[in-house]
Amino acid sequence: MDMNEKLTANFRLGEFYNPGDKGTTWRSRTWPQKVITALPRPAKELYTALQIIRDVVKKAVIVGSGVRSEAHNASVGGSSNSGHMSGAAADISVQGYTNIDLGELVIKLFLVDVLKPYLAYTYLIEGNTRTRVHIGVDVEVPRNSIWGPGYANCPSYKLLTALSSTPAPQPATPANDNETTISLHRTIRFTHINAS
Ligand SMILES: [Zn+2]
Repeated sequence: MDMNEKLTANFRLGEFYNPGDKGTTWRSRTWPQKVITALPRPAKELYTALQIIRDVVKKAVIVGSGVRSEAHNASVGGSSNSGHMSGAAADISVQGYTNIDLGELVIKLFLVDVLKPYLAYTYLIEGNTRTRVHIGVDVEVPRNSIWGPGYANCPSYKLLTALSSTPAPQPATPANDNETTISLHRTIRFTHINAS
């Protein structure tokens, strides 16, 4: 694999492989070639979503953890069905952003439909630095919600949940006057029937 392969305007293939989840500069990482060639490529939906975020923050989006082998995933405590193993997830950070800041941005980009076609699962990572956000495009894993742990701390999360639970608009209800008229008519009819 050519680690210098350009996937998008700002992402190269090598950025998605970080064997020890260590180091911020992908060019300084060392890749055991045997391991790397056995790993899947990152999903197109994933680097497309990351490029969208990159375009908005106008700063480097650092992939702290991208594609993982099963052993690597287990060693960092990843779930057994983690999207990292299929190249469908990345833990990202941006300098100057907390994970809440980044989560807030993800919500906003989702609400304006920009990230909606790609995002399948996301949560805020509660590590020591609290700067990373998991971005997953692994649609094949059924989940209750796109929004995982930590998102409840984002200011826009309430808006998001309010919008998704708002019932569809109902047809306009008759004005009170009409209702009164209808009930009056009924009353009159019943009165008439009873009288006859
Ligand atoms: Zn992750």
